[in-house]
Amino acid sequence: MKNIMFIAPPAAGKGTQADLIVEKYHIPHISTGDILRDISKENSEIGHYVSEVLSNGGLVKDDITDQLIERRLKQDDCKNGYIIDGFPRNIDQAKIYDKILEKLGYKMGYVFLISIDEKELEKRITGRRVCENCKAIYNINSEIHSPKIDSTCDLCGGRLYQRKDDNIEAFQHRYQLYLEKTEAIINHYKEQGVLYEIDGNGTTEEVFQAIDRIISGDDEK
Ligand code: AMP
Repeated sequence: MKNIMFIAPPAAGKGTQADLIVEKYHIPHISTGDILRDISKENSEIGHYVSEVLSNGGLVKDDITDQLIERRLKQDDCKNGYIIDGFPRNIDQAKIYDKILEKLGYKMGYVFLISIDEKELEKRITGRRVCENCKAIYNINSEIHSPKIDSTCDLCGGRLYQRKDDNIEAFQHRYQLYLEKTEAIINHYKEQGVLYEIDGNGTTEEVFQAIDRIISGDDEK
């Protein structure tokens, strides 16, 4: 299995797509956002710093994210492929990632660019709820993705919460950052010939099918 990377604006559904890939292909899902949210709960200098950055929608310093990614990719479960989600967020991180792959002897794999309309993103961002226990994702603005019981996870009964940065103000900041920083990253991967563009405006299933056709080798680039 090749490694999989997502480039997508906030709330484009990359977490949901990653879950579907994990379910089908049994590879680990490495989300820098999830790792940083765990660090933000630590009562330490770094914990407080990360917590502050996360609540205002900015980016955590590269030296922190670079180290945590390298440490995570060295673990045995990454040897047969993994999904990397939320990294790289800028061209410096992309270049560091190239070096980490070289060091570990890994190939780039597939880079999926998920494109989606801004209005649709706003709707998804304000309705997103996450299970604090199993991290399952719901959307109360969507009939099919709402939990069956308010504020409760269908899968494990855990409590659902709204991420601190899932509000319109933080979204605007994160979206502008995304547009500014990703252009160079997209060009970087286009040059490497590993970029696949996916229309993210469809349903979860439609988007997954488009991705899976490529992963399972049915689609030639
Ligand atoms: P996400 O769950 O990917 O939307 O990430 C949530 C937040 O974590 C972002 O808004 C950033 O503050 C931080 N974050 C995640 N990945 C990175 C990264 N690669 N570099 C810097 N900050 C990051």
